[in-house]
Amino acid sequence: MSKQHWQIPATEGLGFRVKRDQVIRITDVEGEQVADFVAYRANDFSERLDPTVTMDALHAMKVKPGDMIYSNKYTPMLTIIRDKVGQHDFINSACRPEMYELLYNKRDHTSCYMNLNEALAPFEIPAPDQHYPFNIFMNTIIQPSGQILVEKPLSKAGDYIELRAEMDLVVAISACPCEESLCNGYKCTPIRVDII
Ligand SMILES: [Zn+2]
Repeated sequence: MSKQHWQIPATEGLGFRVKRDQVIRITDVEGEQVADFVAYRANDFSERLDPTVTMDALHAMKVKPGDMIYSNKYTPMLTIIRDKVGQHDFINSACRPEMYELLYNKRDHTSCYMNLNEALAPFEIPAPDQHYPFNIFMNTIIQPSGQILVEKPLSKAGDYIELRAEMDLVVAISACPCEESLCNGYKCTPIRVDII
């Protein structure tokens, strides 16, 4: 089992395969950077990581070490092994060009949706109508009124989360290219990925 690692440049994406029992470490290199994470079963792309199923299975919007992340078919896909941050997001869909138009009046903005599509294309996974990622390091606060606030990530330089694959997977990660909000602390920076 060879060790692999990549540094995803700021605003870009990455796709890779992992085998069952391999551990993926995702590191916020400079701090306050969100990594949109999607995963598909390697031998059946109709099964994918599902944040809403995960919240249903866990009865929670937060994960801690020992918790599993589930697929759309209610099968454990990944287990949280270690987590230096403890604050991630399951409710926001991937940023996409239309979002930047609606919220920021910017056209043709780089986006997690496009980054993830490009990262998955070499594995012949067709682009979905939208991505619903596990948004690692994203700090979403839901107030009692129902208002949703996206605050600066709590992750500091070098903080990481480790996920063990519970099945063979194709994974894609986007270093979120939104510099228009607190989502990434108004500054886009790289994400490091290690397969352990
Ligand atoms: Zn994004």
